[in-house]
Amino acid sequence: MENFSGKTAVISGATRGIGGAITHNFLEAGARVIGLYAGNTEAAALFMEEHSRFAPQLELVQCDVASESQVASLFAMIEEKYESIAILVNNAGIRRDAVLALMTTSQWQQVIDTNLTGTYLMAKQAVLLMMKNKYGRIINITSPVAHMGFPGQANYAASKAGQIALTKTLAKEVAKKKITVNCVSPGFIATDFINTLDQELLLEYKKMVPMKRFGTAQEVADAVLFLASSRATYITGTVLDVNGGL
Ligand code: NDP
Repeated sequence: MENFSGKTAVISGATRGIGGAITHNFLEAGARVIGLYAGNTEAAALFMEEHSRFAPQLELVQCDVASESQVASLFAMIEEKYESIAILVNNAGIRRDAVLALMTTSQWQQVIDTNLTGTYLMAKQAVLLMMKNKYGRIINITSPVAHMGFPGQANYAASKAGQIALTKTLAKEVAKKKITVNCVSPGFIATDFINTLDQELLLEYKKMVPMKRFGTAQEVADAVLFLASSRATYITGTVLDVNGGL
């Protein structure tokens, strides 16, 4: 495994599910991690306890990625304390499912605000720091529904498609500064995100996957670590699918 010591990574949604595995991977690889969570202080405390052996490398911060002022304060703190960052993983995401005809404006807006505006706010601040060092890796966690669509997820699919468009555009803007910007697109991954769905529905979804199983958070985290590594220097503006063949 590549050694990331001396590199600082900011990871959103860092204390549960896919983000928890991503954070774990970077800590094991020697990186310093600033891990963000929204409001689940219990999960954050448990994550910190389980990773106490990495204590000097790990800082958890409660920060709503959809809030411009909270993201600005976070990056002001980071600049003061650590000067810059090498890696940003925009993993925080929510879903508020409803068929479009019945979707409330609030359901639409919450998902766009967290998944898409959050990615914009975080990437903007990160790029300003990364440009100083002429180095950076930005990895956005999108979803196959961005191009497939999925009933009940017009808000979510639009937010994830927007992330891909943002990724491809930003990749072109910062390529000369040696900053790469990519997406990882997980298929069905067994986390709280889908575990709350109806069990029969989950069985149907499993049948849709050619590998006939859901993926693990670890399998997604390994793809993220690869894109952040020195083995991925010429990869930018792409989407890496981790979906069992969907
Ligand atoms: P989880 O629901 O398990 O975890 C979501 C994480 O995002 C939590 O840590 C949560 O914080 C954090 N979060 C939510 N809203 C905000 C916010 N406004 N600001 C900061 N953090 C926030 O989800 P997964 O781990 O399954 O999903 C992670 C990413 O992967 C998401 O972007 C999701 O869309 C994407 N994805 C997931 C798939 C799956 O099947 N699981 C499939 C395809 C994509 P807190 O703990 O405080 O609530």
